[in-house]
Amino acid sequence: MSDTRPPQVLPSRKPTQNLEIYSEADIPTERGMMKTVVFRDRRNGREHVALVVGEVADKEGVPVRVHSECLTSEVFGSLKCDCRQQLDRALDFVSQAGCGVVLYLRQEGRGIGLGNKIKAYALQAKGYDTYEANRQLGFADDLRSYDIAAEMLRSLDVRSVDLITNNPLKIAGLVEEGIPVRRRIPSRTEHNPHNVGYLKTKRERTGHLIELFAEEEDSEAKAG
Ligand SMILES: [Zn+2]
Repeated sequence: MSDTRPPQVLPSRKPTQNLEIYSEADIPTERGMMKTVVFRDRRNGREHVALVVGEVADKEGVPVRVHSECLTSEVFGSLKCDCRQQLDRALDFVSQAGCGVVLYLRQEGRGIGLGNKIKAYALQAKGYDTYEANRQLGFADDLRSYDIAAEMLRSLDVRSVDLITNNPLKIAGLVEEGIPVRRRIPSRTEHNPHNVGYLKTKRERTGHLIELFAEEEDSEAKAG
């Protein structure tokens, strides 16, 4: 009995300027099967990951999360930010939708690196907010760039995206890099006493569309 099925071939990926697709494999996860595509940046050897659910090539309005690595919350359970929750929500969303991409970019601490992020935390303990602390260390507010994310999406042949984010800068960043954003899917997370200041600062400084504070602001308004 001969097997007449065509040999399985990997979909052809578009060549990209700075990234190469280094490897890919299906990984079973708590949320089902996810294709894990590893991109390597030719400029610095840094590896970024695309977790892909379902068929996304040639599709419009693919749910996409552009997520920056956060070791402290994702691995250690730090409560200083909401990154882990954001990542979990995005993975929930794409797996429930049966289609989507979570880009996991290795740019710790808004691009300043782990060591400097911890330095910034030390400054925050002295009363600086997250942006002041970064500036104190000589870094710009946000060193993340969206060219990597855009290249990854182009390489996956995604036509346009529904972006899972509260951050208008992310939408602008992707659009600037030539990725059409069809709409925004809000990302809801919960605050705790440790990250409430961080979340508020994020909203005030960068116009993050965080809708968690309605109740709290009401009580503040009353108190004020
Ligand atoms: Zn974080």
